[in-house]
Amino acid sequence: MIRNHNNAVTIPVLIRCEEIRRDGHVRVGKHLIPVRVLPLPRLDSKFEKEFGQVPEKSNADFLRLLLLIVAINNREQPHLAPRGYLHSYVTVTAHKTSSKIERVWERVKKDPNRELAAELNHRLRGAKPVIWWVKSEHRLAPGLYCRDIATALFAQLHTRLQTPKGLAVCLRCEKPFIRSKRIQRYCSSNCGAAARMSQMRQRTRKEQRSTNVATEQWRAKKAG
Ligand SMILES: [Zn+2]
Repeated sequence: MIRNHNNAVTIPVLIRCEEIRRDGHVRVGKHLIPVRVLPLPRLDSKFEKEFGQVPEKSNADFLRLLLLIVAINNREQPHLAPRGYLHSYVTVTAHKTSSKIERVWERVKKDPNRELAAELNHRLRGAKPVIWWVKSEHRLAPGLYCRDIATALFAQLHTRLQTPKGLAVCLRCEKPFIRSKRIQRYCSSNCGAAARMSQMRQRTRKEQRSTNVATEQWRAKKAG
């Protein structure tokens, strides 16, 4: 078992694997299923190569829920962050479920944790608590056996996300990444630099506009 910074116990997420890569076994009836512990996902092609392809739909759902989790972890206030993570979550969810945006907002504003629990539980139907044999430690331990990689990813969300070194969503490219500091807002130095650049451009445009308006007013005054 792994303890996180709150000293809370998180259960390892297990998925079936080739015999040669196993961290241990789960016994089901007469069968021994070789399993490995899913590490924190990096969600890139290397990860998929190693653990199997995540279906497009699950991937989209994963990213969507990530927005909600980051909003909850940040204690985002919708009125203070009108275009924040919660806003993105609501927009994407309304589109995906063809429901009214106001409906989703109402639900999320009332209780974002309830929304998250309902969404996660729905996706954890393919997960099952088991007692497994940990090869390296020669002992039995509790684990969460997931029937496929998509279920395992959602299980990861709930067991590992409350840590400061958890997953976050890049404010620029909206890709998930594993942050090293709680305040890290961009996935890479590239995204950070690009974001600063566009902020600068926006400022310049704004200044340009106000200069133009002032010039127009001056011209109008002169003409009139
Ligand atoms: Zn990025």
